Amino acid sequence: MLIVVDPGHGGSDSGAIGYGYFEKDINLSVSLKLRDVLKANSVDVILTRDKDITLGLSERCDIANKNNADYFVSIHCNSFKDSSAKGTETYSYPGSTSGAKLAKGVQQAIVTNLKTADRGVKTANFYVLHHTSMPSILVELGFITNKDDLDLLLNKQNLYAASISNGILNTVGLKQTNGSNDIEKLHQMGIISDYYDPESYVKWKDIAGALLKIIGG
Ligand SMILES: [Zn+2]
Repeated sequence: MLIVVDPGHGGSDSGAIGYGYFEKDINLSVSLKLRDVLKANSVDVILTRDKDITLGLSERCDIANKNNADYFVSIHCNSFKDSSAKGTETYSYPGSTSGAKLAKGVQQAIVTNLKTADRGVKTANFYVLHHTSMPSILVELGFITNKDDLDLLLNKQNLYAASISNGILNTVGLKQTNGSNDIEKLHQMGIISDYYDPESYVKWKDIAGALLKIIGG
C-alpha cells in the first residue's frame, strides 16, 4: 500500500494566511506527522514535498502517477474573509466512488476527534483531484482565518494526523497496528487529552490523571 501525501502550497506560495500564520507551514507540519503515523501502520508514504519549496500542481500529480500510488491525499487549510467561517470539509473528484468513500472516512474521523464543524464531503474539479490516476482526496483541515480552528491547527496536529490516518486505514480495510486505535478510543472517551506517538514514553502524572478520570476521582 502506497499513499502519496501532498502538503498544499509551499515556497513562494504561502497559501492562505490567518493571524500571521501561513497555510503552507501547517499543511507541511501535519503531513509530516501523517507520514509518521501511516508508516507506523506499515503503509508506504511518499510526500510531494518534505520542506518549504515551491512545487507546481502537475509536479505533485506526476509524483503520485509515476509511483503508482494507491491513494493521493492533499492537505490544506481553508480561509474566508468572514472570520466566523469554520470547520472541516473533504473533497473528492466528481464521479469517483472510491474517492468519495475515502473522503467520507477521513472527514468523519476528523470531525469526531477534533470536534470541528462538519462542513461535509464535497466534490470538486480541483487540479490535483482531476490529474491523479488513483482515488484522491483534498482535505481542508479547518479555517486558518478562524481563531478556534487555528488553535486546533496549531496545537492538535498529532490528532489531525492520527485521525486522517485512521480514516484512511479504516476505509481501505487495513487494520491499525501499534495501538493507534486504542489511543484514539481513549481520546474519544475523554480519558486522555490528545493523540500521542504509540511508541512514546508516558509520565506518571499522566497515568495518574487518566486513572483518576476512569474512577471518577
Ligand atoms: Zn490550500
